[in-house]
Amino acid sequence: MTGVGHLYTGFALALYPASIVQEHGWLAMCLAAGATVLGSTAPDWLEIPITIKDKDTKKRIGTRRLIKHRTWTHVLLWWIAAFWVCASLVRGDTLPYLDSFDWTHKDLLFSTLVGFTAGGVLHLLCDLPNKQSIPLFTPWDRFALNFWNSNRFEKPVALVVLGLSIWITFESHYPPLISNYLS
Ligand SMILES: [Zn+2]
Repeated sequence: MTGVGHLYTGFALALYPASIVQEHGWLAMCLAAGATVLGSTAPDWLEIPITIKDKDTKKRIGTRRLIKHRTWTHVLLWWIAAFWVCASLVRGDTLPYLDSFDWTHKDLLFSTLVGFTAGGVLHLLCDLPNKQSIPLFTPWDRFALNFWNSNRFEKPVALVVLGLSIWITFESHYPPLISNYLS
């Protein structure tokens, strides 16, 4: 999916992360929604693209990335794990080692991270149907559904994401708390 497509889907999903953090108020919900859009493009800009210019004409001839495309920033499992931890913490979970973290604006920080990581998960799910593979578990394994090229079906996919986002929000399908599995 292209950057513009990722933005469409980010806006389409924003309602769901906002609903996860709703008990922390409007500011938390706005931060979560905004961070969803930011996170939906994050795996690409975290690779730190650098413009390559022609030596003579100084015109842009391409981009290179400090981190190889679709490797370290595109590991699906890592983003899912980060989202799950943040969503559990924002809903009052207490996790070992993190209990001592006591800070006034913790709720707002984790609300923002819930949106950001949800956007990151979404980015990878939207890259998955492409021909260019992404890693599922580590930066070294690769998987691609190989359904369509990167720039295709962006608006229909965004509509599907919007539908799922509304459905999952009103059915309250939050991720289960991590502490349920630790005790
Ligand atoms: Zn990507």
